[in-house]
Amino acid sequence: MTLGSHCSLQVLKGAKDEGFKTLLVCEEKRCDMYKRFKFIDSIVPVKNFEEIIDADFQTDLVESFNPILIPHGTLISTLDMAAIESIKIPIFGNKWILRWESDRVLKQQLMNESDLRSPVQLASKNEINGLCIVKLHGAAGGKGYFLVTNKKEFEEQAQKLVESKTIKSEKDLFIQKYANGVPVYLQYFYSPISNELELLGIDRRYETDIDAIGRIPSKYQLSSIIEPSYTVVGNIPIVLRESLLPEVYDMGERFVKASKKLVPPGMPGPFCIEGVYDNTAKFTAFEFSARIVAGTNLFVSGSPYSDLLYDVPMSMGRRISLEIKRARELSKIRLITT
Ligand code: AMP
Repeated sequence: MTLGSHCSLQVLKGAKDEGFKTLLVCEEKRCDMYKRFKFIDSIVPVKNFEEIIDADFQTDLVESFNPILIPHGTLISTLDMAAIESIKIPIFGNKWILRWESDRVLKQQLMNESDLRSPVQLASKNEINGLCIVKLHGAAGGKGYFLVTNKKEFEEQAQKLVESKTIKSEKDLFIQKYANGVPVYLQYFYSPISNELELLGIDRRYETDIDAIGRIPSKYQLSSIIEPSYTVVGNIPIVLRESLLPEVYDMGERFVKASKKLVPPGMPGPFCIEGVYDNTAKFTAFEFSARIVAGTNLFVSGSPYSDLLYDVPMSMGRRISLEIKRARELSKIRLITT
């Protein structure tokens, strides 16, 4: 079971391929679109996704379908963490770690424990000196991020966000040194059943307007007022130089270890480390996602990495269902749900 958005098609297709019945909780306005896909066995319409925190709604779903909820970015951006943690339907993965993804202070703590090189965080606007990126809390897909080089620019931009009621005050913003390099999103799956980490795909995001600005000659860039915003509109596949893979696995292993220590039971299932490679091939991680990311939608029929591990097309969605199947066979479902 999942919510109709983000990566639900891939998740449910994968579940079907592994022999499960599939259930989609879907906003009424999108039901017609999802009905096009025959691998979705049941669609439960809702006015909005907040309805799923209703206890009776959950009880009905459990009695009718006995589902496992696969969390994704829309669940996190729609519901607050307390609401997600209160859900009684079993959630695939570790629901407690989702709070660590959405709270920037906790997020940084887990990244530090994982020994991931990350951009310098500025404690206050007074420290801004050189190119910085300013972020909002939560999984907003880069929406509303902006660049500044000094305190005055920060105050001007922050004021606009306060006026548009996007934020309450400047304190809701989070300032990082800009990490220059090419973006790379590493899609992992950790199985607590086999105690193995898999790299299943790599992508980069296609972000507007930052990826649009390069299409305009520089003299027009300078005279235009296009903000370098980071709103994700899609994803592009990437294959890394093979010599970079040992470090990629090391980073993933360190993340799995750190999450077991800081947020038991750790990081069962999909996660993603997100960052940039600079011109010395050094990786700087600016984020992680502690659940399936939408970039995995590229690999419905497998990826150059999953093809090396599996003889059948293994999307991240399908890998989740394979893990559920194995856990059931071994009576270890508690290892992979919270
Ligand atoms: P996030 O929501 O943190 O994944 O970031 C959205 C986008 O902002 C990323 O895909 C990057 O393009 C960009 N970004 C985030 N943090 C940084 C950083 N510290 N330096 C450079 N670019 C960043």
